[in-house]
Formats: sequence, C-alpha cells, structure tokens
Amino acid sequence: MTAALTHQDWLALAGKIDIATGLFIDGAYRPAVAGETFDCVNPATGELIAVMAKGQAADIDAAVASGLAAWRDGRWAKLAPRQRADILQKWADRIEAYQNELALLETLDMGKPISDVLNIDLPEVLKTIRYFAECIDKIEGAVTHTDPSAIHLITHEPMGVVAAITPWNYPMLMSVWKLAPILAAGNCVVLKPSEQAPLTCTRLAQLFVDAGGPAGVFNVVNGFGAQAGKALALHMDVAKITFTGSTAVGKLLMGYAGQSNMKRVALETGGKSPQIFMPDLYDFDAAVDRAVGGIFDNAGQVCNAGSRLLVHRSIHDRFVARFVERAQAMYRPGDPLDPATTMGPVASQAHRQGVMTKVQLACEQGATMVLPTPDTQRPLAVHQGGAFVPLTLFTHCTNTMSIVQEETFGPVASVQVFDTEAEAIALANDSIYGLAASVWTSDLKTAHRMVAALEAGVVWVNCFGDGDMTQPFGGYKQSGNSRDKHMDSLLSYMQTKSAWFYIG
Ligand code: NAD
Repeated sequence: MTAALTHQDWLALAGKIDIATGLFIDGAYRPAVAGETFDCVNPATGELIAVMAKGQAADIDAAVASGLAAWRDGRWAKLAPRQRADILQKWADRIEAYQNELALLETLDMGKPISDVLNIDLPEVLKTIRYFAECIDKIEGAVTHTDPSAIHLITHEPMGVVAAITPWNYPMLMSVWKLAPILAAGNCVVLKPSEQAPLTCTRLAQLFVDAGGPAGVFNVVNGFGAQAGKALALHMDVAKITFTGSTAVGKLLMGYAGQSNMKRVALETGGKSPQIFMPDLYDFDAAVDRAVGGIFDNAGQVCNAGSRLLVHRSIHDRFVARFVERAQAMYRPGDPLDPATTMGPVASQAHRQGVMTKVQLACEQGATMVLPTPDTQRPLAVHQGGAFVPLTLFTHCTNTMSIVQEETFGPVASVQVFDTEAEAIALANDSIYGLAASVWTSDLKTAHRMVAALEAGVVWVNCFGDGDMTQPFGGYKQSGNSRDKHMDSLLSYMQTKSAWFYIG
C-alpha cells in the first residue's frame, strides 16, 4: 500500500517529524487552559518524543461546548446523508495520503512495529471509515401498521455530543471504531485518547477538518483518565459515553453516568480469551501457528488475545513443543522502526513492570515457564532502554492461578490440559471475562455444540482473530456491554423516535 521505506528512511523521518502537541478543539490546535503538559515517551528507547498539552476539566468543558454548538446549529447532523458520507470518504482519503506520518507517530508513541501499523492498523482504519460512510444512507426507519386514524413513524436520530475514551493498544483503530459510526450517525464527538498514546488522534481530527468536516464536530482532548476522562464522563451535556479500556475503568464510568445525567454507557473492556484445541485438529501446524499469533501479535496487547490455551491431553506435549519452536521462529523483537521487526516493546516501562510482576507471580504459584528460553532473551538485550517483554509461555497451569484469571496484556500465555469436551467448556467459561474464544476441531457437530456453550461475544472456529466490518465485536460478562463495528454499532449511536400523527 505504500512505497517500502527502509529502517534508515524511517529513522531519518523520525528525526524531523513535526508533532502537533496541542488539544484539538473547535477546528484548531490550542494549549490546555491551565497551561499544563505531560511527557510523551518512546517505549522502545525511553526517549522523550514530545511535551503534550494536558487537558483537564476546563478543556473538556470547552470541547463539549464546541461540540454542543455544532450539534445545535446542525452544521453536521442536518447535512444530507450523502454529504456526510462524502466528507467521511474524503477523510479516509486524507488519512491514506498521510499514512506514513501517522504510522511513524503511532510507532514512536506506543512501540508498535511500523510494518504492523502500515499493514494492519491503517488499512483497518480506512475500512472502518469507508464502511460507516457507506452505511449512512442505508439507515431506515419504519411506518407501522396501526389504527386508520393515525400514521406512525419510527425514526432513528443522532444523540448530540458523544464522548469517546480509548486505550493505547491500537490508538487510531480503537478510536476510529468509535469515531466513524458516531460521526456517520450525525453526532458530534469529544475524544479522550489514552495518555500513553496521544500523538495520532489530534492528527485524525485535523485531517477530518481538512477533508471538509465542520469545525467543532470532532474535538480531541489529550490528558489523564482521572482528570480529563472523568470530567468527560461526568459532563452534563454529553449524551453518551463510549469506552474501550479496562474493566476497572469501565465500572467507574457506569458510576459517573449515574452521578451525572444518566448518559448512555457503552463499554468494550477486558478479556482473557480461551482457545480450545480438540484432539482432532485437521491441520495441527496451522493451528499452532495461529495460537502463537493469537497471543504474541502486538506484544500481547490485544483485548481478545488468546492467552488461555486449553489443549487436549493427547496432543499436549506435541503442541507445546511446536508452539515453543514456532514462537521463536515467527517473532523478531527489535526496533519498531525497522520494517523487519515483528515484535516491539509493550507501551511503557510501567506496563512492562506490571507484566513482569504477573509473570513472577505465576512462577510462585507453581506454573512451569517453558518460554523464554535463553535464545529468546538474547535479542532483547540490545534494547535495554526499551520496555521489551520476552515471549512467555507457562504450562501446568490451573484455573486458580492469577495468570489464568487476570488479564496480563503482554506476550504471556498459559497452557491447561483437559480430557473431555465438558471439562474444556467448564475451564473456558470459568472467567469474569467473555470477550472472545476459539474452538479447533475437525468435527462440525463438536464445533457447533461448543460455540453454543462458550460464554463469549465472539467465537472463532478453526481460526483466530478473523473478521471484517460485518462482524459485531464485543463481549459477554465483564468484557463489556456493547458492540463495535457492524451496523449495530451505527444504530447504537442513534436513538429511536416514535412520531404518532393523528389524521382521523
Ligand atoms: P485503561 O482502562 O487504563 O484506559 C483506557 C482509557 O480510559 C484511557 O484513555 C484512560 O486515560 C481512561 N481512563 C482511565 N481512568 C479513567 C477514569 N477514572 N475516568 C475516565 N477515563 C479514565 O486501559 P488501557 O490500559 O489504556 O488499555 C488496556 C485495556 O483495554 C485492557 O483491559 C484491554 O483488554 C482493553 N481493551 C478492550 C478492547 C475491547 O474491544 N474489548 C479493545 C482494546 C483494549
């Protein structure tokens, strides 16, 4: 999708990239009202990248006021659906035109390999915006059959100012999963990106304005969760808050909504996804490769990461041996600006420390560490300043261990053995989370039965992580209460009006 740049090219570009450090409110960059800032650090090197404006309650007030003014005068909501669609398509065009700059910012910001941003994140960002742009004029209401003295119309209307709070693992993509349907539905938006990854989302807002999006419709306030995020969630003029992040913060947001204006709360939260490998795998090697990718892609910082490997006793030893071999072959840790790198650091030193504490606890609780081996540790030694975590695999795990129950959000997997299908399902469902799961088997009846028995919003059969925009994505249980992607998501940013016309 882009002319291939070399490692040296990316390093040279990184040396001269222009970083926008302001908040983006009412169509322009501005400093924070209080003039405060925070440091943005490259997790691959520990170096300071930029000093960012730190938004707080006063900045949230300004951003929501800007969104509310845009909402009230209808500069976006009252455009013909086709006009909104055209602007969203042009927005996608602008993002595509600036993809190298956006990829570089994302990589510097959170350590994601530049090849992943260019080949995974950005294409998905574009697909998301274009999908929802195409959906805009497909939304239909209804005229119901009712009393002859009346005409009854059911219509879907936008809500007003919607707030979005997003995480750092896919900073642009997780934000665009919210932004595209919010904007397509005709709402205005205030986005609070993660303070761990503040560089790209203000650029997305600027590109929206460059594409013809009216000022005030899309505002971005960088800042910390407990200040800017909380102020946004408590704001009386926000009609809905949509969130992707941890379960703990999701619960806080429900409380903030209750303490303020009962705004709608949509949550995409944590996960601890089981992958069940039955004895009759039709392609053993392919299944193991997908298991490896399912936990180690994006250094394990994936909400649906397949971190719990449930493996039938008859194939366990062969599975683990192959997993260890393939993990070492498939991942090349290194400088994320090197296009050959397939694994970067985790998003910060603080997060690395949290992951390593959980790894240590797993050892103390009796799990057996089979990865890292001395070989997989060695490449990390050249990145001492970076927040690198080695590929980690534990065997002999049980459901009482923290490593099985708690989200690690790093490249760490646990293996458990089972003997029967019922046991596998019981182990898989024994979790507070229910985001995703997978079943690997050659038998269609087994697969169908297990899909029905698994408590998860997304279940993959003989694959992992597959899907497109037609797939509603979200969780059961404490993994959330809403869905991103799909028309469902667009409608979730609208409210239903019933208009009853008396004509008798
Ligand atoms: P996090 O919950 O720490 O932060 C997410 C966002 O919430 C950030 O913008 C943060 O500033 C904000 N925040 C923090 N405290 C807040 C508060 N008191 N009030 C308002 N906002 C607040 O999550 P994270 O560490 O950035 O991301 C990792 C988490 O995200 C993991 O749990 C992961 O599973 C989850 N996640 C879920 C999905 C999904 O679709 N279900 C996708 C990606 C990530």
